[in-house]
Amino acid sequence: MIIATRQAHRAGTLSAIEVLHLQKNYGDIIAVDQLSFSIPRGKTYALLGGNGAGKTTTLSMMLGLLLPTSGTIRILGIDMIKDRFKALPRMNFTSPYVDIPHRLTVEQNLRVYGGLYGLKNVKRRITVLAEEYHLTPLLKRRYGSLSQGQKTRVSLAKSLLNEPEILLMDEPTAALDPYTADQVRTALKAYQERLGATILLASHNMQEVERLCEKVLMMKKGRLVDQGSPAELITRYGEQNLEDVFIQIAKGTELPQ
Ligand code: ATP
Repeated sequence: MIIATRQAHRAGTLSAIEVLHLQKNYGDIIAVDQLSFSIPRGKTYALLGGNGAGKTTTLSMMLGLLLPTSGTIRILGIDMIKDRFKALPRMNFTSPYVDIPHRLTVEQNLRVYGGLYGLKNVKRRITVLAEEYHLTPLLKRRYGSLSQGQKTRVSLAKSLLNEPEILLMDEPTAALDPYTADQVRTALKAYQERLGATILLASHNMQEVERLCEKVLMMKKGRLVDQGSPAELITRYGEQNLEDVFIQIAKGTELPQ
């Protein structure tokens, strides 16, 4: 079994992410309901769903920030509930809901996070990411004094410090102007291709999803209600674009699986 697992690792056939019967209840509220999906290595998937569908809860459980009520999460073959500290150095995330210390400068923050990941080349890495995410003029500014879009770019740079194999992104471009968002998507695609990283992206921006994601996982009321490539879903629902598919599903006209 161990030999078979190693061979699968070498051949790259193991899923990077496997979620099975994941459940999160808050008293009577079911935030995530028997959610199962898997993502192969090197793919970018989208987690879509209306407000309150359970996307952030799912990502938080995947990061070990929230304990599931039941179910399993394996990332890079590691059980995230028992052994998440083995997987976390190989992962990273962006989220508008997780704040960065306000009183430190951008550079100090990035150094602290680089230190937490045990990076040896943190100075060089900060210089590269500051260039890529247009943060060089902001490095000496206190994080708390930045605009929302500038903070988002810092958060993106932070998420790439350790060159993660697994990147979980909650609305990564939500606060960005269209031009900056476009540049960020190009940079993310280049990063994914360069390192063969696996990305799971929660987003309300359907153009972003069509551009970046091979497959879409559609959530509603905590459940997975459909999945497929953007093109498959558009054809299956007889629509012109993913936004109209999203609206159909939100209205309650999803097709039986
Ligand atoms: P959005 O697109 O609005 O960010 P989401 O898909 O990320 O939504 P979640 O934040 O995961 O949705 O919330 C899923 C459900 O769980 C919602 O009904 C929410 O009200 C509920 N919920 C989330 N956190 C808690 C909590 N701490 N206590 C009680 N209910 C919660």
